[in-house]
Amino acid sequence: MIHDRSHALFARAAELLPGGVNSPVRAFKSVGGEPFFAARALGPHLFDVDGNRYIDYVGSWGPMIAGHAHPQVLDAVARTMRDGLSFGVPNALEVEMAEAISRIVPSMEMLRMVNSGTEATLSAIRVARGATGRSRIVKFEGCYHGHGDSFLVKAGSGALTFGLPNSPGVPKALADLTLTLPYNDFDAATALFDEVGEEIAGLIIEPIVGNANCILPREGYLQHLRDLCTRHGALLIFDEVMTGFRVALGGAQQRYGITPDLSTFGKIIGGGMPVGAYGGRRDLMRQVAPSGPIYQAGTLSGNPVAMAAGLATLELIQAPGFHAALEAGTNALCDGLEAIAREAGVAFHTTRAPAMFGLYFREGPVETFEDSAASDPKRFGRFFHAMLDRGVYLAPSAFEAGFMSSAHGEAEIAQTLEAARGAFAEVA
Ligand code: PLP
Repeated sequence: MIHDRSHALFARAAELLPGGVNSPVRAFKSVGGEPFFAARALGPHLFDVDGNRYIDYVGSWGPMIAGHAHPQVLDAVARTMRDGLSFGVPNALEVEMAEAISRIVPSMEMLRMVNSGTEATLSAIRVARGATGRSRIVKFEGCYHGHGDSFLVKAGSGALTFGLPNSPGVPKALADLTLTLPYNDFDAATALFDEVGEEIAGLIIEPIVGNANCILPREGYLQHLRDLCTRHGALLIFDEVMTGFRVALGGAQQRYGITPDLSTFGKIIGGGMPVGAYGGRRDLMRQVAPSGPIYQAGTLSGNPVAMAAGLATLELIQAPGFHAALEAGTNALCDGLEAIAREAGVAFHTTRAPAMFGLYFREGPVETFEDSAASDPKRFGRFFHAMLDRGVYLAPSAFEAGFMSSAHGEAEIAQTLEAARGAFAEVA
């Protein structure tokens, strides 16, 4: 494949953007090589500036669950933007969005729209602290909740990819208020709450950890956390920025039957535009300004064009059988990859939830952060490039989940498995 134009753009970008990118993991640092620059995207495909085409399993890191440039989403955006790009006063689409989210996710009794997942999680812990009068936050090793100061403590995603789970620039005094737990460890959570439970404002968790590859909760684990929070008066916050509207229409909370006090969303509800949301119990959200004293605001929050893209996407994913088809596609892909790896004699394991999967260069099972981190990153990097050379774009990090979209049909999955045959042989 020729990458001359991408190479030239990357050289220009590196002069002005740290690492040549606007978000670290895009730089391909952990897998080596240089990123390609996108020219356009359609359905399951990304096209780069050199004219190469890739089957895309990143989907802009999650939003593109209905595939790229879906005509219904584009039409909604085009129709809406003709009336203006931003008003700074309320608009009807914000109300429609709030109603749609609240209907699909019943725990979202009240909510506020923001512009990113990071804003959503920052705001959610402010509510947790403001409402409980407590300061400490609990998070899980390998979970990523955006780049807010309180969350860059043993964080996943890019922070983990680059070996920087704790970032310089986060005041120690603030980081000290963030307590971390090993995911899927029942006893560690019980012990922490026994010790300092009355000081904990909220526990925030990715119910399925998509930022340390893809780790599923052990049977009863999320209920255990629900019970601990209830017993100690701490708020349970589900960060569903990644899992929301993906692992089930109603997200992980629907899939596992748990009702959090607060939840955060992003990605899919923006349909590719910058959107986030946080919300939950009415008595908590009523404390947010201007109905209450907990302050949070946003110049572009509830932007009409972004709402239109998100609403059109939410409509698409409510089609009957939408998530079942995604689950079938994810299983076909993962079963196929495991079979090919076995034939090639490569230690390999997959984890999956509907529309989301983890690839591991090690034997299973993978249930803890340590299990996940024990995947062979060098081999993953070689596999990543072997796939890319064959026209398949996987997440450029061993710590990021892959995403399936409704635009990935049998043909794309078959092509991916064909590419994997060559790629596994290369890394065997
Ligand atoms: N929470 C989770 C679970 C995420 O996966 C992400 C981003 O990947 C965020 C929060 C932050 O969202 P954003 O990148 O939109 O700020």
